[in-house]
Amino acid sequence: MEMSALSDAGTFAVMLAGFLLANFLFFAAGGWWFFYRFLGPSIPHREIHATAPTSAQIWSEIRHSFSTQLIFWLMGIGLWFLWKSGHTFIYSRWDERGVVYFLLNFFIIQFAHDTWFYWTHRWMHEWKWLRPFHMVHHRSLPPTPFASLSFHPVEAIVQGLFWYVIAFAIPSHVIWVWVFYSFMFYINMWGHTAYEFWHKDLLDRPLQKILNTPTHHNLHHKYHQKNFSIYYNFWDKVCVTNHAKYDEEYRAIKAKTEAHKTSKIMKALGL
Ligand SMILES: [Zn+2]
Ligand SMILES: [Zn+2]
Repeated sequence: MEMSALSDAGTFAVMLAGFLLANFLFFAAGGWWFFYRFLGPSIPHREIHATAPTSAQIWSEIRHSFSTQLIFWLMGIGLWFLWKSGHTFIYSRWDERGVVYFLLNFFIIQFAHDTWFYWTHRWMHEWKWLRPFHMVHHRSLPPTPFASLSFHPVEAIVQGLFWYVIAFAIPSHVIWVWVFYSFMFYINMWGHTAYEFWHKDLLDRPLQKILNTPTHHNLHHKYHQKNFSIYYNFWDKVCVTNHAKYDEEYRAIKAKTEAHKTSKIMKALGL
């Protein structure tokens, strides 16, 4: 291999490490500080759980997040070599496949990840030999934003493989590959906050109830065998795997919030 290719790989490795750490600091550490330290004391009426996370749980989430990021980093470098040697569908000229495809590309990736996450997550619960690996993630109760990447290394590989699915199955602009990681982390962080902020009538609104809520994923951490999806309440609906208590618990949390709300603006907005 030529020296220039190796130095490009080195530059990429440093850039990827910085990118992964910046995302972790912003979404996981930032999300934890914002929800549990800054806002938390003033919003008990938004709490999904009655208990608080222990510091042992949070340190375990941080440790596992770092091993996940190390695995993502190594898998990312592997993917970079495959991309540079022309083995993937990742492209870099934004108009290479047309403007419409460029814009749709992000949503195609999102739907693909919703599908990948739902099924791999469900198999990790249903297949006995995979289950012990996934139980590392379920140690988080109530979850915190640090739980977003708190996986056993085997599960980290399963989740990291999605970026190979993009590379080999979905022609994707390189910018979306980066942007999608941050978007995934952002939504993941929301799912792991133990506070509910969505609209009080969300479940009665035909278009909006397709979105998942923090309550949805929090109930998954509590009851395990239901609520497997991430962005959309699509596969859980199609496969009838929404938890029977989801509606009831969401409405109970929102009723508690409405009863204790002091802000007129938030009242009017229904948030
Ligand atoms: Zn989770
Ligand atoms: Zn699970």
